[in-house]
Amino acid sequence: MTTEADAPGRYIGRFAPSPTGPLHLGSLVAALAGFLDARAADGVWLLRMEDLDPPREPPGAADAILRQLEELGMTWDGAVLYQSSRLAVYGEILRNLLERELCYPCDCSRRQVRAMGSVYDGRCRARLWARKSAPTGSHALRLLTEPKVWGVDDRIQGRFEQNLERDIGDFVLRRKDGLFAYQLAVVVDDAFQGVNRIVRGIDLLDSTPRQLYLQSLLGYPRPAYAHFPVLLNEQGQKLSKQHFAAPVDTRQAAPLLRRALCFLNHPPPADLAGPEELLDWAIGNWDILRIPARHGISASRYA
Ligand code: GLU
Repeated sequence: MTTEADAPGRYIGRFAPSPTGPLHLGSLVAALAGFLDARAADGVWLLRMEDLDPPREPPGAADAILRQLEELGMTWDGAVLYQSSRLAVYGEILRNLLERELCYPCDCSRRQVRAMGSVYDGRCRARLWARKSAPTGSHALRLLTEPKVWGVDDRIQGRFEQNLERDIGDFVLRRKDGLFAYQLAVVVDDAFQGVNRIVRGIDLLDSTPRQLYLQSLLGYPRPAYAHFPVLLNEQGQKLSKQHFAAPVDTRQAAPLLRRALCFLNHPPPADLAGPEELLDWAIGNWDILRIPARHGISASRYA
């Protein structure tokens, strides 16, 4: 069993949106939860643009997110880190993992992986040792996993564990199309930026054991994690660009923040009018343990 490391030193948190569109209510809640948790601890709150998948990023989306955050009064510390400027670093780290024989090429299709029950069965592992059978065309790079349990004591959700080989299987660090995978970039950059507290939606809890494993392979410290429930649309799906969630209208900053705070179970007093007052009140009254340890909450409850 892997034990929980602590996250010593000054609080360093971050918001790490993928610029697939402007902020919607779900991503606004993610930004707000991280911002409040950092500010309530007198910590640093960084902004990292996870712009690793250009075909999914409409022009102007990253700037729109920055503008929305500013209009809501959620100011971040320091310069924004763009993952698109870090490709050489990810490539170097992949080479290191390849040299250590921890990564191997794989050209199995998505359909083949689905037919395995979506847990990769390691059928290309032999390529680790038989380099001559390296695929000729484009291929993904997968990280070797072990039948070992990786667990996290989440600040909101409690204990969460996975046996990586059994529950996930060897996972992709560089995709077939040459793009670096989220799992690799997020771990490298959290360490690079000294992030020691991570606050994000519960849809990423399932990724956390993979990230703990990568941190340990790369010798990085482990941050503390908090995963809050995600907002669900009327069909019970996570609010997301993919499911056509509407961008938030920041001209309505105060009602928006009020709604997001209610969702985080921090309903503000009725007499607070402006966004600044609401944020100040929320920083002063923040208690992450008031967020319910649930998977999802219907957005229409707080319409
Ligand atoms: N970029 C990811 C997203 O927008 C979040 C990454 C993270 O918080 O770890 O879903």
